[in-house]
Amino acid sequence: MSLSAYIHIPFCKRKCSYCAFYSAQAGESKKDEYVSALVNQIMSSKDAGEKLKSVFLGGGTPSVLFPSHLTRILDALEVVFDVSDAEVTTELNPESVQNLLDCRLIKRFTRFSMGVQSFDDEELSLLGRLHSSNQAKEAFSALRNFGAENINIDLMLALPGKNHLQKLEKTLDIAVSLSPEHISAYILTPEKGTSLFEKYGQNNDDLSSEAYLMACEKLEKAGYEHYEISNFAKKGKRCVHNMCYWTQQKYLAFGPSACGFDGNRRYRIDCSTDEYVKNKGIVAPLLEEELNGTELLSERIMLSLRLSDGIDGETLNEIRRNKEKERFIESLVSSSLAKYNERGGISLTDRGFLVSNNIISRLM
Ligand code: SF4
Repeated sequence: MSLSAYIHIPFCKRKCSYCAFYSAQAGESKKDEYVSALVNQIMSSKDAGEKLKSVFLGGGTPSVLFPSHLTRILDALEVVFDVSDAEVTTELNPESVQNLLDCRLIKRFTRFSMGVQSFDDEELSLLGRLHSSNQAKEAFSALRNFGAENINIDLMLALPGKNHLQKLEKTLDIAVSLSPEHISAYILTPEKGTSLFEKYGQNNDDLSSEAYLMACEKLEKAGYEHYEISNFAKKGKRCVHNMCYWTQQKYLAFGPSACGFDGNRRYRIDCSTDEYVKNKGIVAPLLEEELNGTELLSERIMLSLRLSDGIDGETLNEIRRNKEKERFIESLVSSSLAKYNERGGISLTDRGFLVSNNIISRLM
């Protein structure tokens, strides 16, 4: 089982209208204190000396930190762990890309994940994003010019407002023309308590289906492998870090609200940023769930069905021992919601991914 690390940076310049993540604004001294606490947590890791398969700096917005902050975090990781072969990703937003445009710093990341969401200025404003479509394009080019060879673009589907499908078509065309190695395209699900939910409520199911199928078709046609419900990659460019989550590998958690997994237990660093700083990053993790063998297997089936790799023949045969489930699988294949795969098992199709929650719950 491989080991990865998730590092949470809980700061953003401003809250987006749809955001329910743990993040807030912060001045320079708070960021300094936070990075010191984070470095202390990394230096105190009981897994010191282990080889990491991937490191993911997420948030929040890691790119609101200064290059000196990011350098300190990466230095600490290099001192404590073996990251020589690790995929090292940072999330960033277009308006703060300049904090990464440092020749020495940029080479220490192997992957960049940029929160674009849309290339339409009206949609960006509705989402409360700070960048414009042009700024996103410029940020992408700036990363490329500084030598970034592996870039992901995050997009959002099924946004409220007028003419979303037309705007999405344009967004997808621009995204493809930039030729990122990876595109994540998530259906927006406005969370209660966010300003977007207050204004527009839940999104429309028909719009979600149309937007999702349009994204699948356009991105697959452009040569991207649709390897997970919401993720598309050029050949050999699947996100190593996310694949660790989807294949039940172990991952460490650093920073407030970060989640970890040790092979059968999920835990969370359950504290505010202030508490985290006050305790210099040493906070006992909260056990969220402990999975027994059967639960791990059920979860593995569920996660496998999220991937285009699907489930293998052995697992399929196991499920088929239940006659009702066997009939259900046959109905999925005959209605093109699933197809047999090379491993003798089944994988969901694009239309199947759209209703994957229902399918998975009936198969479990
Ligand atoms: S940039 Fe990301 S984490 Fe920050 S407020 Fe917007 S959606 Fe939330």
